[in-house]
Amino acid sequence: MKYIYFFEEGSKDMQNLLGGKGAGLSEMTRIGLPVPPGFTITTDACKIFVKKNEFPDGLWDEVLSAMKKLENITGKVFGDEKKPLLVSVRSGAPVSMPGMMDTVLNVGLNDKTIRGLIENTGNERFAWDAYRRLVQMYGKIVLGVPGKEFDEAMDETKKKYVRKNDIDLTTNELKELVEKFKKIIKDHGLEFPQDPYKQLELSIKAVFESWNNERAKVYRKLNNIPEDLCTAVSIVTMVFGNMGFDSATGVAFTRDPSTGEKVLYGEYLANAQGEDVVAGIRTPKPIKELEKDIPSAYRELVRAAEILEKHYRDVQDIEFTIEKGKFYLLQTRSAKRNARAAIKIALDMYKEGIITLEEMIMRVEPSHIDQMLHPQVDEKVKKTVVAKGLAASPGAGIGKVVFDPETAVKLASQGEKVILVRPETMADDVHGIAVAQGVLTARGGMTSHAAVVARAMGKPAVVGSEEIVIDMKMRQFESRGQVIKELDTVTVDGSAGLVYLGEVPVVTPGLTPELQEFLSICDEVRVLGVRANANTPEEAKRSREYGAEGIGLARTERMFLGKDRLPIMQAMIMSKTKEERTSYLNKLLEMQVNDFVEFFRIMDGFPVIIRLLDPPLHEFLPKELELTSEINEIKMKLKDAKTLKDMDPLIEELNERERILKTVRALAEFNPMIGFRGCRVGLVYPEIYEMQVRAIIRAALKVKEEGKNVIPEIMVPLVGIGNEIKIMRERLIPIAEEESKGKVKYMFGTMLEVPRGALVADDIAKYADFFSFGTNDLTQMTFGFSRDDVEATFLNRYIELGVLENNPFEVLDRDGVGELMKIAKERGRKSNPRLEIGICGEHGGDPSSIEFCHIIGLDYVSASPYRIPVARLAAAQAAIKHKKNLNK
Ligand code: ADP
Ligand code: MG
Ligand code: MG
Repeated sequence: MKYIYFFEEGSKDMQNLLGGKGAGLSEMTRIGLPVPPGFTITTDACKIFVKKNEFPDGLWDEVLSAMKKLENITGKVFGDEKKPLLVSVRSGAPVSMPGMMDTVLNVGLNDKTIRGLIENTGNERFAWDAYRRLVQMYGKIVLGVPGKEFDEAMDETKKKYVRKNDIDLTTNELKELVEKFKKIIKDHGLEFPQDPYKQLELSIKAVFESWNNERAKVYRKLNNIPEDLCTAVSIVTMVFGNMGFDSATGVAFTRDPSTGEKVLYGEYLANAQGEDVVAGIRTPKPIKELEKDIPSAYRELVRAAEILEKHYRDVQDIEFTIEKGKFYLLQTRSAKRNARAAIKIALDMYKEGIITLEEMIMRVEPSHIDQMLHPQVDEKVKKTVVAKGLAASPGAGIGKVVFDPETAVKLASQGEKVILVRPETMADDVHGIAVAQGVLTARGGMTSHAAVVARAMGKPAVVGSEEIVIDMKMRQFESRGQVIKELDTVTVDGSAGLVYLGEVPVVTPGLTPELQEFLSICDEVRVLGVRANANTPEEAKRSREYGAEGIGLARTERMFLGKDRLPIMQAMIMSKTKEERTSYLNKLLEMQVNDFVEFFRIMDGFPVIIRLLDPPLHEFLPKELELTSEINEIKMKLKDAKTLKDMDPLIEELNERERILKTVRALAEFNPMIGFRGCRVGLVYPEIYEMQVRAIIRAALKVKEEGKNVIPEIMVPLVGIGNEIKIMRERLIPIAEEESKGKVKYMFGTMLEVPRGALVADDIAKYADFFSFGTNDLTQMTFGFSRDDVEATFLNRYIELGVLENNPFEVLDRDGVGELMKIAKERGRKSNPRLEIGICGEHGGDPSSIEFCHIIGLDYVSASPYRIPVARLAAAQAAIKHKKNLNK
């Protein structure tokens, strides 16, 4: 087994084996870019190490001979006093997990080799700075000494000699610091090893182990990264950005990752080592200034950025170091970007001819589209700024200030909205960021860990706000003369880089011109239609704006709940005779016509599926408990009443309440979700559906007369028996005909949500022009899971235990529910080849479920208004992914 690859041997296609970092270093070496010499230990080695807790057989020998080879290449010797070779030991998983695992720099330095380093570089201060970094990193990462203790020693020393920054410390002060650091380690009963090979061995092991540290595990869970990938370890010859002011280290993006603009974007620190930039110890300078500071290196950076972007055909996130004017690349990976940037970059790169149309569509993630529809701070509202910093991740977040991730998690679990405020940006904060509405930090740049993580999660963030002074003991921060205490409310505006006092109103940007352009390209590619689940005219309007091609589900029950309607509805339900019922329904008829008119106007030219009344009737009546307590109250009042005149109205009220109570008790069911509802009510009380069908057709006629194109589809819910729809059709079509007199075309169909309905779809399809899968109920009834209860009780445990991979109410269960859909489609089309088939459950807005609908060849998906843009993208992506499966 070969566990080690030199950079010359690898390539970008070896991510699984070499990790993203190793593969990137290899690829850059291969195409002739300046990378310090080095090699990568494979993820296979880590996999064995994680299992056995020791190196796989032969690995150490391979490391030794690789080090010999590295010595030959560099002309330096590992552990040599004259010409010491120093290396970094760097983590790197197959999937990018920025800052989640560990890296040790300057391995190979000890009390003796430092002399050689001083001699070769002629820079004593630099050498001691490198040494103190090694002892510090080694102590923290390899030996597990709390990093805080080193930071405190650093602060003490700075205070003692009145130095503002780390770089102001002199040689002697750094020497003193090295001794202090060694002592901290000793005080823990540990030792910093002088043997360079011991340093190397234990650093490699520590990096292997960092695969399983807490923050890496949390990150994997949040990002659905498999646990068994493991990390590779790259051993890289050290180059030094901390050799003076012709040296620097930095991070650059080939395009701006928050706007998508085509400009080199990034930050650097002169006289610093890599981790300084990401750790946010000093606030870095914008990359443009490098052009003045070290012009030749800047030109090399620009050239490398161009080459890399063309080569990878994607925006790259680059780490570089400049050693005495000489430029080196230390990392490249495809850049994380926010939603706005992702869309602009994909569109631009397509237009620039760098990527194809299909690649452009695949590059934008459905979650990006979601983020675009996130709220932003209302510009027109007056606000009080409490802090200004860098606009690290866009959007507006409102919540109560907390100062540590643990408190954030605790409060969030109690349903509170929180804003995480931190002095620095640290990778350990991920779990706090995950539950926060927004993030604010005092130090750190656009590429600090908090900024990167927040962007990826779509959380608003303001970082590097140097004007805020955080007092962790008092749990408060001060800024612009104001004191903000823990639990005070603030609004983080990550788009402007501002934090406001209190809760600021927000607005939703909706579709930008770029998103519209992108989505209309998606529309040309997709095969599935996209309709909306819209219950009000407002929702219908919004869904048109978002690109819906019709309404896939308009629920009518809401229309009976208005103040003016509910009493009529209740009277209708309690009617004893058909005549009585019809008279109340006639009152509702006119109101329903007006409801539908609005829908048809808005959806001019597009189909509108109106579902006939679905819920059980008792949902329109008061709850039993409410009624009995009201009745008791009236009885009490009756006792106190003195005159007949007082008593009469009370008695009348009492009788009325008791009459309702009787009906409520008569309609009570143990399991209303599978009870007397849907078409079952429609069959037993035919007048209700008759009224609704009349209203639909009358409304359609009215809007048609306005010159609009009206396409009504009448949907009968909860059909599981052929005879249900057969009888419905026989009753309702004559009414529709009577109303329309042949002047409007309409369709008549059913919502398929009872498993039996799927199995007898051939029978049902004889009487239906369309099917729409109601996958919420279909999932409930296929699993026998109560939609309203399981999530509170055992469903999450099922997912943790691995019984289920996903919540089947969110992600369509392809094996069970999906199989029923396939059966229904096949059997339905067999008896009615022109059957229109769609889906209107919540799944209609979920990308994975949409993909499945494409695969089995449905005609459309229907989603709630805010998920329509996502559905348009997901449908296009499904069409690209399954090109050969096109059913048409
Ligand atoms: P991460 O995955 O957290 O970014 P890296 O392995 O990239 O960790 O290392 C952290 C920083 O250390 C990098 O930003 C890089 O600039 C610096 N670094 C790593 N190896 C070397 C090296 N051989 N020479 C100089 N700097 C290095
Ligand atoms: Mg890095
Ligand atoms: Mg239903």
